[in-house]
This record gives sequence, structure tokens and C-alpha cells, in this order.
Amino acid sequence: MIMQDKAQAHEKFKKFLKQGKHRITPERFEVLDFAIEYKGHFAADELFIKMKTNDSNVSRATVYNTLELLAQCDLLAKRHFGDNKTHYESSFNRKNHGHLICTKCGKIQEFSSGKLNQIVDEISNQFSFESSGFSFNIFGVCEQENCQDENSKERK
Ligand SMILES: [Zn+2]
Ligand SMILES: [Zn+2]
Repeated sequence: MIMQDKAQAHEKFKKFLKQGKHRITPERFEVLDFAIEYKGHFAADELFIKMKTNDSNVSRATVYNTLELLAQCDLLAKRHFGDNKTHYESSFNRKNHGHLICTKCGKIQEFSSGKLNQIVDEISNQFSFESSGFSFNIFGVCEQENCQDENSKERK
């Protein structure tokens, strides 16, 4: 990540913490750095483990509550992929996108679509609703042979 972007994200988070009268601690910014540099989607525990293996001393509780704050501040997007777990991903300087979720192997493929954005705008306008984002999940099976073929295991 470009240093300038990182500084921008820090600035945004600092402002948010100040406005909400949350404490500004170096640990919270450590969580921010790991979270926005994480490639793809992650659960809170996955980030916690990643930080641990990188010699961070930030506690699990701090990771959990900082992720919540980052989501409120729009630096992270919260995602639900049908497994009752909350996933996060960086939404900082990223376009909103949809997800294709394979219910067999769990693979998550991202896509973006101008048409989808248009529909979201149209519906929002219709209800005089000011949208700040959307979540669009398509569930099914991915292109992998093992996922497509119901009987692949039996035939081997
Ligand atoms: Zn699959
Ligand atoms: Zn995504």
C-alpha cells in the first residue's frame, strides 16, 4: 500500500475516534494497518492470528472492538457469506463489488458491475434513500470440477 494512502486512512480513523470520543491508541492503528493490507476477506480471529504471527502484542479484545470501529468509520466493509460469521474487507479506496460464493469449497470470487451500481442508484432514488454501500451475494457452485460434479467422489 502506498504510504500516502496509509496516512490518509490513519487521518480518517483519527478523526472518527476523536469525534466519537474513543481513545486514540497505537494498538488501534496497528489493527488498522493489518486490516487494510489484508488481501481478501477475513474474520476477526483470522486477523488476530495473523497479527500474532507477526509478533504483535495486541489483544484479541482490541482486535474485535477496533474492527467494529473501522467498519463504522467505513474503512472496512462487513460481509456475511451465509456461514453466520462476520467477515471484513478493506473498503478504503475500493469500489463496491459483489461476491460469488461457492457453497461447496467456500471460494469467494469478487465481481463488479456497472449495471448493478445503476440498479442500486435507481432503487435508492426511488425511496429517497441515501445509500452508503450495498451487499450482493450470489450463492452456488464454482467452476471447479469437484464442486460442479455431484458424483465425482463416488466415481473415483
Ligand atoms: Zn467451489
Ligand atoms: Zn470482497
